[in-house]
Amino acid sequence: MNESQAALSLVTAEESAPRDARQELVDALAEGDLRFHQLPKEMSARRQAEVRRDALSKISGARLDSMGHYPFDDERVSRQNCENFLGAVQVPVGVIGPLRIRGEYVQDEELYVPLATTEGALVASTNRGCRALREAGGAVVRVDNVGITRAPVFRTSGVVETREFIQWLEVNTEEIRRRTEAGSRFLKLLDIRPQAMGTTVFLRFRFDSGDAMGMNMATIACDRVIEDFIEPQTGVECVSLSGNFCVDKKPSHVNFQEGRGKRLFAEVQLDKQILHKVLKTNARALVEVQYRKNLLGSIAAGSLGFNAHFANILAAFFLATGQDPAQVAESAVGVTTIEPRGPEGVIASVYLPDVPLAAVGGGTSLATQQEALALLGVQADSERPGHAVMRLAEILGASVLAGELSLLSALTSRDLARAHEKLGRSGAKS
Ligand code: NAP
Repeated sequence: MNESQAALSLVTAEESAPRDARQELVDALAEGDLRFHQLPKEMSARRQAEVRRDALSKISGARLDSMGHYPFDDERVSRQNCENFLGAVQVPVGVIGPLRIRGEYVQDEELYVPLATTEGALVASTNRGCRALREAGGAVVRVDNVGITRAPVFRTSGVVETREFIQWLEVNTEEIRRRTEAGSRFLKLLDIRPQAMGTTVFLRFRFDSGDAMGMNMATIACDRVIEDFIEPQTGVECVSLSGNFCVDKKPSHVNFQEGRGKRLFAEVQLDKQILHKVLKTNARALVEVQYRKNLLGSIAAGSLGFNAHFANILAAFFLATGQDPAQVAESAVGVTTIEPRGPEGVIASVYLPDVPLAAVGGGTSLATQQEALALLGVQADSERPGHAVMRLAEILGASVLAGELSLLSALTSRDLARAHEKLGRSGAKS
């Protein structure tokens, strides 16, 4: 009897004698006679998760009861979001705001923004930044819709074929466009950028993916056009659908230069009173910390991110709103600028060239993440694809600016360690 037949006989037994059959499945998993993905398909996702948790408890001695509490549709989650579904880990959500934003998709609104984090002081600090932005009249935000990229890598016989392959591509771009767009109502091919090195050619496809982050859509479209058209027509073989020139989930110069997903700009002018009253700092000190820490410190370290902590706000925002958290790795590359402006004031900005973002698809469909998006007034509308995600991007840009201003100010007043001691350490001490 093979493993799936064994699992089926166990579930049949489960229907007649539920407790014993369930225990048999737990034992089979714990003893390695059955794999975690081989539980009978007839079992509900909830039941499968219970059996997996019990088996893991038996293997490890750890109790996993808390993981069994979750509000989402587990049938859907186990099909679409997470294999070998076990339950959920929870991340606390705090709120910052009102955050005043003057963008093109958020036109002078004040919003409350959810941040999911376990890092004490992050929400309080970013909230202080929101107050500074509010008192300054709001963050001015602009977003470019750069598009999501996927870059398969091809092998040619040499530089002559490399050259011919790229020429063929130029002649056939319209047919490639037709084929890549055929499988989706929303995917639009923007361009294909070739990059050649000897016998290796990368084709960096760039797509508008509407309100979706687009990585699945782009990957599926590239796969189809390569298999049905590019390879048979050219005889040039695709070695890998992702050639790391995409660049997904890794900090990179190409994404910094060309952008990826959304390119965010957020800015504010702060006068002497706001700097003093809200941020407990002054223009000279803030400009100096920016220069010595964000610029010189980042150069000394060889960083790609010339900022204080974009990743903190990105990670908390991504978790709360159902983004792919691994894309924080690329999104946190960016630059903060702070310059003197007016009498003892500053003009400050954040620039994030590489932020893949979604209002539909992936984790955005989960119940709590849907609530977070609703709180932000972000709802995809197929009549206006792309609007919802641009709104989300503007809110993110302003949130990152709030977080950046508050942390840099805390560093000028040497307030950082004190805030963390007060807000972040009580759990560790108890
Ligand atoms: P997806 O959930 O695979 O696709 C989005 C779906 O939403 C499509 O079916 C699309 O319709 C539909 N849709 C409905 N309204 C839309 C609107 N207004 N705008 C755009 N689409 C709309 O999502 P995805 O963004 O392509 O991929 C996101 C997932 O990819 C995440 O879970 C992420 O973790 C994962 N990911 C994948 C890779 C990879 O290489 N495959 C890499 C990184 C991340 P159509 O069917 O008409 O297109």
